[in-house]
This record gives sequence, structure tokens and C-alpha cells, in this order.
Amino acid sequence: MSTINPLSEKTMQAIVLSIGDELVSGQTVNTNATWLSAQLSQLGITTAAHVTVGDDLPAITHAIQRAAAETDLLLISGGLGPTDDDLTRQALAAALGDKLIVDEAALAALTAWFAKIQRPMSGSNHAQAMRPPSATCLPNAHGTAPGLKATLGKAQIYVVPGVPREMKGMWRDAIAPAIKTAAGDQVVRIAKLSTFGMGESLVGEKIKDLMVRGANPAVGTTVHDGIVSVRIYARGSAAQTEAMVAQTIARVTERLSPVIFGQDDETIEGAVAKLLLARGLSVTTAESCTGGLVAQLLTATPGSSAYFSAGWVTYANDAKEQFIGVPHELLEKHGAVSAPVASAMAEGARQRAKSDLAVALTGIAGPSGGTAEKPVGLVYIALAHAQGTIARGIVFPGERDQIRLRAAQMALSIIRWFLTDENLDKIFPPEVLNGPTR
Ligand code: ATP
Ligand code: MG
Repeated sequence: MSTINPLSEKTMQAIVLSIGDELVSGQTVNTNATWLSAQLSQLGITTAAHVTVGDDLPAITHAIQRAAAETDLLLISGGLGPTDDDLTRQALAAALGDKLIVDEAALAALTAWFAKIQRPMSGSNHAQAMRPPSATCLPNAHGTAPGLKATLGKAQIYVVPGVPREMKGMWRDAIAPAIKTAAGDQVVRIAKLSTFGMGESLVGEKIKDLMVRGANPAVGTTVHDGIVSVRIYARGSAAQTEAMVAQTIARVTERLSPVIFGQDDETIEGAVAKLLLARGLSVTTAESCTGGLVAQLLTATPGSSAYFSAGWVTYANDAKEQFIGVPHELLEKHGAVSAPVASAMAEGARQRAKSDLAVALTGIAGPSGGTAEKPVGLVYIALAHAQGTIARGIVFPGERDQIRLRAAQMALSIIRWFLTDENLDKIFPPEVLNGPTR
């Protein structure tokens, strides 16, 4: 039985239309469109497009007609205010082929609003109580402009104010409940598996057969700060989606198990902390090019004193000798950026902190200092444990900050792989001087 079922019925699609000169001119970031699309996706509705137009009557009218011809659901934000550049109401009327009329209930609500805040109501506020005859007004609990609901062709249209607070209030009060009813008992369940240590393209290749466009569950990848996430979206009844997500997690895990460090919001450092606590083991750090970043990440989790008591930042060669006992000859012979020095740093730190594990990093974060043999981005990472020491040299791409962060994440991953008994030689053969490509 396949776990990828083509959708039995076509799912609802939406277009989000944002109105405002400040949006098209780049003065205001269009947060309404992203917020609305995120809400829609939680209801299982796909956003087909974001459209943005300025405060121009023909342009808004045209955009409404075009979008309504293409979609089931059209959400419009902005241009409902009382000023001359607020034209969405007129544009909706034009798109519907109607003239605006006064909505008596909306006018009464507006009058009451101004009475309550003890301000005079201007003539232009009257315009806010107008609607096309076939439309209905949506009350605005947080401001003056009522929203609008209309139908054009097969499209349901909702118009909300541009002010984010008012837009969100109207979504929650009126729009989401109506759409939920239309969508039936369908829910969307989203799960995320986070990986580190494999490039996005290779991750994609390994789960290619699960990433079929339009499939349910849908599987996709995203990258952020070196972490490649596999996202799973399942649509259906609560019970169906739970089973679909569990099955897909199992299939993805089968292919990618060594590089998956967590689910949903779990971090690499959180995963390492959990493993150290479960095993009752302690760790220490000896860092050069990462300047304490690994120690910072290891102590990011509350309760970290249970597994971390001390760490060293030994940036200069002298410091490596003096504080963690790296032999002078070793530095002379191999240079600070070398596997033997990384190993000696880890062993020296482990001994001094009396910890079960020690991780050490020494590398070239750039931008200068690289050579043909030891390029910028080359970092040696060593892990000392009761039975011995493992060390790997990895070349990280990017600029200084990125190299430092990737190296720290890799050090944490090496601890994680050691604690989960992964065969590091399989992930990084000792002779390979290479890292993830992104
Ligand atoms: P009001 O009745 O309050 O005038 P309105 O519907 O006329 O509401 P606009 O005048 O278009 O809304 O926008 C009001 C403010 O809301 C803008 O100054 C802008 O800061 C913000 N805003 C409008 N649209 C968006 C958007 N898409 N994303 C983020 N902020 C927005
Ligand atoms: Mg306005």
C-alpha cells in the first residue's frame, strides 16, 4: 500500500490581494499576505498567489476580476479607510458591476463607535459604511472600517482593513470560522524533521520519491543556517493525518536517520543535551576558531550544569600549551590547524575538566590566513572519550560567521553521532576533507 494518496477531491485554493502604494513602493513590508497565507495553510488551503497593487481604482478593479476568475477564495487587505486613496470598496463595486449603497447597520455601528470615543464623525467616515448591494459588511471590533464579504463567479471574496491588528481581528472573528465550516472536518498536520551534515540536494535525492508535487502528504525541504529541514504536510481527518504523518516520518527516518537530530522545534544542542542527560555523561570544550560558540550552545539548555562544568577558549598557540597542555613540538610540527593539535586539545581539556567527553576545534575562519594546503574554512574537530580520540578535518563554505557556526554545529553533531553509536567513518571517511555543501 502506498502512503502517497493523490487527493481525492480538489483542495481549496486562495489568492491574497494586498492594496497600497506603501506596499508597492517598498516602504511597508507586506506582512499581511504572509500572515494570511500561514493561517490559510493551517486550514488546509493552498495560496496560489500573492498579488500587490497600488492605490489605483482601475488597477484594483482589474486585479479583483482576474483573481476571482482564477480562485475559490480571494482575501483582500487594505484600502478600506476613510481617505481619498482608500479605493478598495469602489473597486469591489466596479468589479461586481454595482454601485455602492449605504449599509444602515454599518452606519449605526460607525456612529456608535465615534460616540463612544467622543469624537466627531466626519463626512468621509460615512463612506466606510458603504457596500455593493450584493455584499455584506463584516464588523470591525478594533477599528472603524467594516470589512466586506462578496461573491464573484465561483470566488468567495473577503475584504479586510490593512492595519494588521484590525485584519487579524476580522480573520479570527468572521473569516476563519466561515472558511473552517466550508472546509469541513479537514485538518492540516505539519511535522518537521531537522537534519545536519548533508546538503539539501542530497537530502532531496534520498527522499525524491516522497516529494511528488501535489501529493498528500506533501513533503518538502528548506534550509536555514546549515540545517536542512524536511517538512511534512498532511491533509485529511484528524485520525488520517496522524497516521499519514507517522508513516511519512518513519519513511524519511529510514533514509536519513544519521543526520536527523530532531523533530519540530528541537535544536542540535537540545538533542545533545538530552543524550548527555540520559547517559549521565559530561562534556568539556577546547575552542580556537569558534571562540566559545560550542560552549555557548552547550549551555543554552536549562539544567546544563548537569553535564557541563568548564570549557576553554585557547586562541593563541601559547594558550593551547599553557592551559590545556598541547605539546610545543606538536604545534611546531603540524601547525595549530591540524588533526594532532585538535586531538591534543581535546585530550588535555578532558583530563583537566575530568569529564567523560571533550570536544576541540581549531581552524581557519578567514577571511585571511588560508593557504593552498589549508584553505579558509578548514576546521579540525576532535572528540576525546574514555576509549580514545577521533578527529576529522572538514572544509566549511561561506564567510567567517557562517564557518564558525557550521563548525560549532558539526562539533555538536559529532558528539551526537558518538552518543548514538553512529559509525562516524561512514558519515565522514577519515581521508575525506569535506563538509556539507550548504
Ligand atoms: P484604515 O481604515 O485604518 O485606514 P485601511 O484598510 O485603509 O485601514 P490602509 O490605509 O491600506 O488600511 O493601511 C493602514 C496601515 O496598515 C498602513 O499604514 C500600513 O502601515 C498597514 N498596512 C496596510 N497594508 C499592510 C500589509 N499588507 N502588510 C502590513 N501592513 C500593512
Ligand atoms: Mg487607510
